[in-house]
Amino acid sequence: ATDSWAQAVDEQEAAAESVSLNLHDKAAQSLLNKLIRNNLVNNTNQVEVLQKDPNSPLYSVKSFEELRLKPQLLQGVYGMGFNRPSKIQETALPMMLAGPPQNLIAQSQSGTGKTAAFVLAMLSHVDPDNKYPQCLCVSPTYELALQTGKVIEQMGKHYPEVKLVYAIRGNKLPRGMKLQEQIVIGTPGTMLDWCSKFKFIDPKKIKVFVLDEADVMIATQGHQDQSIRIQRMLPQTCQMLLFSATFEETVWNFAQRIVPSPNIIKLKREEETLDTIKQYYVLCNSREEKFQALCNVYGAITIAQAMIFCHTRKTAGWLAGELSREGHQVALLSGEMQVEQREKVLVTTNVCARGIDVEQVSVVINFDLPVDKDGNPDNETYLHRIGRTGRFGKRGLAINMVDGKMSMNILNRIQEHFSKKIERLDTDDLDEIE
Ligand code: ADP
Repeated sequence: ATDSWAQAVDEQEAAAESVSLNLHDKAAQSLLNKLIRNNLVNNTNQVEVLQKDPNSPLYSVKSFEELRLKPQLLQGVYGMGFNRPSKIQETALPMMLAGPPQNLIAQSQSGTGKTAAFVLAMLSHVDPDNKYPQCLCVSPTYELALQTGKVIEQMGKHYPEVKLVYAIRGNKLPRGMKLQEQIVIGTPGTMLDWCSKFKFIDPKKIKVFVLDEADVMIATQGHQDQSIRIQRMLPQTCQMLLFSATFEETVWNFAQRIVPSPNIIKLKREEETLDTIKQYYVLCNSREEKFQALCNVYGAITIAQAMIFCHTRKTAGWLAGELSREGHQVALLSGEMQVEQREKVLVTTNVCARGIDVEQVSVVINFDLPVDKDGNPDNETYLHRIGRTGRFGKRGLAINMVDGKMSMNILNRIQEHFSKKIERLDTDDLDEIE
């Protein structure tokens, strides 16, 4: 009886969670993307370029040297371990760094090097001798602004004359003050106040305006208007740059209001496929058996990183506890949780399946199989979860935990849907897997 009660609570929570996946989560997921990732996303698609002036030659660079960066910046770039420009950077950087300044709208999935690109553009364009703001960068949330700030600090490590300040709620400055920092990064509301109401910034002196995460930005009430009001205070000569991971109609409309006569760069998302992924299932009878099987998997193979999906936050919480008791490093992600660390093991509930690109994950484990609200297999979510493990031709591994007739039935239907065999794995004898 306790079990069915627990299950009822689980189901209630699952329902509540899918409802609580509100707009704010877009920003949270975007933050998670950044926190989890530590290298570039590989993308084999072609970059599409639409130039403002189609007759002007299109430059692209294969090395950072070709960009003729200031030596301090080149040192910063190499210091971060970048050897060559990413795909999107190859075309975006020459456009952003060339004179006269060109406007740009760029869209590519997270992890493709957009932030690094515009940070480099801002650092290249500031004049450190001028002690006033010259670059504004707006981000949807405080946390996202902070992440960008960290990149500015890393890349500008050898260029200490350039200073940075955060225009975020809570950063209260004395009235009448004039900022001396060359780069201001913050959220639209505070940035607007600092430009107009408090006049800490003279918007007429701004040379580069960056709007990051446009798709997340427009999901928050008011941000769109505030951004447009900031943009209107800037001089005609100011370079306008807008970045987005996705490009729906609404983002596009907003982008065109922010960036006059833009160049446009797009990089299609890498398609997800199950082709390079080895899929297994494990037969169990209970949650505890599933946990034991999971431990066996950990004991048998060297897992760089695993992403474990559970149906509810409650199961995820329980599993995270059990795993850390076993000595694993666990980070629990779900719709409303804050994640500060990059960890080896991620236990996540359903909400993460769509929003997060975890490129370095090597194993994906479905502790619970994905089902929709009617209890039918959720094939799309299955693909999203599993499809992230086998990219860049690396061998991916997916393990599904089955705990009864019902979930076996779900598994069979998923197998049929993708016409790809999911093999039985005996977790007491794991030699076959590596
Ligand atoms: P985005 O803004 O599109 O999400 P980022 O600029 O944050 O992408 O880059 C994603 C990751 O790749 C970061 O960890 C960043 O340090 C790294 N990175 C960016 N550009 C390069 C590059 N040219 N070479 C190697 N790593 C890079």
